Parts: sequence; structure tokens; C-alpha cells
Amino acid sequence: MKHLCLLMALTAGVIFPAQAAQGLGVVIEHVTLIDGIHAPQADMTVATDGERIATVTPSALAHGLKGRRIDGRGRYLMPGLMDVHIHLRGGFDPGTTPNAEPGPPNRQEGVEALASFLYAGVTTVLDVGNRPEHILPLRADERAGRILAPRIFATGNLITYPGSHGDRMALRISDFEKDKALLDEHIAEQQPDVLKLTLEEEGWGSRPMIPLMPIDLLAKIIRYYNLHGIRTTVHVSSELRSLEAIYAGSDTLAHPVIQGPVSDSFVKLMAAKKTPFASTLTIGDNYNRLVDHPEYLDQPLYVASFSAAEREQLKTRTREEWKTRTWTAWMKVMNPIAQENVRKVHAAGGVVACGTDQSSGAATQRELELLAQAGIAPLDVIRIATYNSAVFLGKADQLGSIDAGKLADLVLLDKNPAADINNAKSILLVMKGGRIIDESELPLAGGRQKRRLAL
Ligand SMILES: [Zn+2]
Repeated sequence: MKHLCLLMALTAGVIFPAQAAQGLGVVIEHVTLIDGIHAPQADMTVATDGERIATVTPSALAHGLKGRRIDGRGRYLMPGLMDVHIHLRGGFDPGTTPNAEPGPPNRQEGVEALASFLYAGVTTVLDVGNRPEHILPLRADERAGRILAPRIFATGNLITYPGSHGDRMALRISDFEKDKALLDEHIAEQQPDVLKLTLEEEGWGSRPMIPLMPIDLLAKIIRYYNLHGIRTTVHVSSELRSLEAIYAGSDTLAHPVIQGPVSDSFVKLMAAKKTPFASTLTIGDNYNRLVDHPEYLDQPLYVASFSAAEREQLKTRTREEWKTRTWTAWMKVMNPIAQENVRKVHAAGGVVACGTDQSSGAATQRELELLAQAGIAPLDVIRIATYNSAVFLGKADQLGSIDAGKLADLVLLDKNPAADINNAKSILLVMKGGRIIDESELPLAGGRQKRRLAL
């Protein structure tokens, strides 16, 4: 036994002894493991037991593992992707109707969007602002196993200062003592997994100025939620507000700096503090991508995720509308700057997490492309979309890497994502909590899909 342990310790830092008495799990054999925190490991065997990973071992040492066999030869296994900045469809749709009052929530749209995440290999999402009557029942259904969906974490209503950014979807708080009952009600009734606040006066790009939440109020609210065991994230877009949010105590930021290039000292600070922030490059990219390259909507993930009618509408009406928007022109200039800001903070050792500010698995995969396009190595992009995003959520002990004991959220790929991030789309199989997702059962807006791996 001593000999065996020594051998395993020498092989890699992540090996766990094969455990006896496996349940009826899944055994993925002879596969190359790609996660963001270990070097890629060839010819490994991963076994699940119930909802967790039970064994991660070199195949040569895998003995007596019971369960359904999956041949991993020539294939790649990565942790399920995570998107820590979504606004699930069906609650409201800020992209197409910026100032309209939302109608009743559309549960079906939400269910279809959730399916699109699983189909694209995304097994965890954080909804950072939605109508509670939309997102919270879906979160309950996901947790009870009643719908096919990624793990749903949600903020419920976000919180803002009256008239400030996100006001339409927010609980408006103007005075800590006076409004404390509203906070208590939010915590008790919505049970936010994370609190989302906004610290944004706008007044940049083509947007007029709006009121800003006072910093002392922000700090009091953050502390109050932390005292209830709840992590916090703050919408920011500038370096100044990012610093203020961090020093007011926020655990994470919901966006990178997008208003201009970051200073060297800000990069140093982010590397020192290691405050995770969501990358959200896809939302800024979206406008010009549709205008310049509407054919992206014919890619398989988009065809599966959106109805033919919606794709047609995007290519025609929405595209015409977006062509003339000032915001589209502004984002053409600013999104590459945000990309470079993200790259710099990552290169210095800051913690970038994957977020899109969108609502489909296709968009999450687009975020990976944009991170790679920024100059971040594919393995690091995978770390961003898995482990770092788990750190953002405060769940890195449960999610985000291929280690025994963690939840078995895994994606089997046909091609190596470390060689080309586009290979993260070569999905053969998605597993969530030890359960293999049958994609022919997913209620996708683009219609039922065939299984990508015959079992
Ligand atoms: Zn957002």
C-alpha cells in the first residue's frame, strides 16, 4: 500500500486512491483530463459515485471500479463550464426593449434557455438580477430535480439606489435604517445565493448621468448580507467605482472595467486583492457581431439554442435596429479595451471569472472565444470558465475541477480544448451531478437534438 501511494504521489499531485464499494456510477476510462488547475493528464480514469467524483486515477492503477463504462480514448474531459453573469430569459429582455415595462414572466423561455446551457456544456449559472417570480421557482425546480437545467444560483432582485443603474429590476434602497425591513424581506423570501448591487452613475458612452448609490450605504448593505452568510457582487464599469466597491467590502465585481484602459496600479491591486470579477465581454461584442457577422447565428450551438424565427428576426429587424444605435458604435471602440483590461488583470495574477451578461449556452461558449481572442491561453480560459468561476461563487470546494470528492459536473470532448478553445464546443457528453444528460430530452428552442455520443 505504501508503495502504491508513493507511486501515485509521484505521478501527479491530484491522484486519489481508488475507493472500494462504488455505487452504480460512471467510469470514464483512458481519457485526458483538462482542467484549469492541474496540468493536462493523459490516460486517466474518472469514476463517479452518486452525484460526486469518487476516483481520479491513472488508468494503469484503476482496478475494481464498478459502473457504466465510457471509452475516453482520444477524448478529453473538462469540468462543466460556469457562467456567473446571466439574466435568464423570460424574466425581462433588456437587449430588445430597453425601456418597456416587462410583461408576465415567460417560464417556457426560461426553461429553453436553461436547456441551452446544458447543451453547450455549462453546468452552473449565476443569475445576477431577474424578476424573482421568474427565476426563483426555476431555481427550486432545478434543486428538486424537476427540470433539466444547470445548477442555478440567483440573486433574485438586485439592489440599487432609487433611479440608479438597474432600477427597473431592483429593490430600491435609499437609507439603510429606514429600508432595513426591505433587506430582511429580500433575504428571507428570496434567499439570494449572492447579493447583487449596482454602483453606476452612467454618463459614459451614449448614456446620460443618473443617480449613484452613496458609498457608505453600499458598505452597510454589503456588511449586512455578509453577516447573513451571503456573498456579494457589484455592477461597476469604471476603475474608480471598482475600487470603491472593493473597499466597501464587495466579494466580487460583476464586470471588468469597460469605460477606458485600466491603470497599471489598478492591475497590481486586482492581482494583490484577487477579487474575482465576471468577464462579460459577450454583451459588448454582441451588437457589432450581429451587424458585421450575422452568419454566426448558423453555427450549430445557435441553431440548437434559438428558434428559426428568432434567428431570422435577429438577422433582419434587430440587425437593422442595432446598425444605427450609438451604443453599437461605442461598443466597437470599447469592447477591445475591456478585452485588453481583462487580459492584463489575468496576466498579472488577478481572478477572472466567466460571465456573459446574456442568457444562452452559446453565449457562454462565445465568451471563451473572446477571452482567447484577448490573448489568454486556452488552458487559462478553461480555468476562468471553471475553477475561477467556482471561486467567484465561493464554491471552489465543491465545483470547478476534476478532483475526487467534488460534484461530478463534467464535459467529455472529442477534441483538445487546450489546443484550440473552439474545441470546447466538440461536446460528446455532458454530466451534471453524476447524471449523464440525454440531450434528446432537452427542451431546446431550436428543437430536439440527437445524442452526440452513442451509449
Ligand atoms: Zn448584468
